Amino acid sequence: MKYTEVMVRYGELSTKGKNRKDFIGRLAGNITRLLNDFPEVEIHPKHDRMHIVLNGAPFEEIDSRLKRVFGIQTYSPTIKVEKTLDAIKKTSLELMQATYQDGMTFKVNTRRSDHDFEYDTNQLNMMVGDYLFDNMPNLKVKMKKPDLVLRIEVRKDAIYISNQLIKGASGMPVGTAGKAMMMLSGGIDSPVSSYLALKRGVEIEMVHFFSPPYTSDKALAKAKELTGILANYSGKINFIAVPFAEIQEQIKEKLPEGYLMTIQRRFMLQLADRIRAKRGGLAIFNGESVGQVASQTLESMVAINDVTTTPVIRPVATMDKTEIIRLAEEIGTFDLSIKPFEDCCTIFAPPRPKTKPKLDEARKLEARLDVEGLIQRAMDGIEVTPIYPNQKFLDDQAQIDLDLL
Ligand code: ATP
Ligand code: MG
Repeated sequence: MKYTEVMVRYGELSTKGKNRKDFIGRLAGNITRLLNDFPEVEIHPKHDRMHIVLNGAPFEEIDSRLKRVFGIQTYSPTIKVEKTLDAIKKTSLELMQATYQDGMTFKVNTRRSDHDFEYDTNQLNMMVGDYLFDNMPNLKVKMKKPDLVLRIEVRKDAIYISNQLIKGASGMPVGTAGKAMMMLSGGIDSPVSSYLALKRGVEIEMVHFFSPPYTSDKALAKAKELTGILANYSGKINFIAVPFAEIQEQIKEKLPEGYLMTIQRRFMLQLADRIRAKRGGLAIFNGESVGQVASQTLESMVAINDVTTTPVIRPVATMDKTEIIRLAEEIGTFDLSIKPFEDCCTIFAPPRPKTKPKLDEARKLEARLDVEGLIQRAMDGIEVTPIYPNQKFLDDQAQIDLDLL
């Protein structure tokens, strides 16, 4: 079908006034950026819905992108026709023939904002319904929950016809909730947390700790490529690489093994918080899940979270690993997450980390290090890279290496 526009219905838009304006403005901006390689497309945000006028752009491609835009409840590809009964009948029939499958039920639902139009809604429902029956003998009407609702909207400028209601990604437009730092590793959990943060409208910047020469370029490339997948849900995401080897070396050299993990995590969180303050973020997100590993017990969180009063939000905190994996598969990060390029934590992981570290002990041990100097040098070494939807960083060679494993 040659659709002429897409009608977008907003998600969780219970708020009014300024918030509503911000919601709609952000959504329009996000969609504009997402479709900027289709200069012919026009976006008209209205207070109750948004119209995306295609001007010849292919709906199929627009469709696959809109599915990943947060803040959209549902949307419908629509055909604009001139205000004549013939045009309504002809397009309705084409649309029904293109979407109807054996056994489906349907009804016609007409709405009219132009009350001067020569037919009212009942007349149109009847006339179009009859016309469809005459031309599609197997069609069945059902008033309650039919499979297809043929919507005809009579407006001042033209008539708009659609018969599909496509489910959007829901959530809130990215950016409406402000900005936060996301602690992104190369694992399964933090990409899922990133997705969930974006879904609540949080604009995220990735903070990734890497430890050359202990970690390979591929571990870094993997985290960047994961960011590229997540950028499909938000547009460009800034990736902040933080050198972490010196801190890990110092901890390993000077502190008892049982606290390696706890102190490393305290440094990570402090650094994430410094970066947040510098970049105007409001919160920190991570991929911790309660009880999943030694560093994620509640006792560990107490000993680690001590370094900041900034809200640390853990979207997957209460999810089972199987639930997290299911989401990772759904959003397209799982296959990449399980590629075995070890990041800094795997390499410096002590064989027996304490599952119940003591806060006092952690503070005392950490004080043996030149905390400020270490943090300052790591901050001086950070590198910020903007990453775009689906941008790739692992080359073919990486794929070949993997196949040999
Ligand atoms: P993930 O699957 O996200 O790696 P995980 O279950 O493997 O999580 P950990 O490796 O213990 O758990 O990490 C817990 C959280 O700490 C991660 O979800 C992430 O938010 C943060 N984190 C761990 N390693 C890094 C890293 N190298 N850079 C940035 N953040 C990290
Ligand atoms: Mg991990």
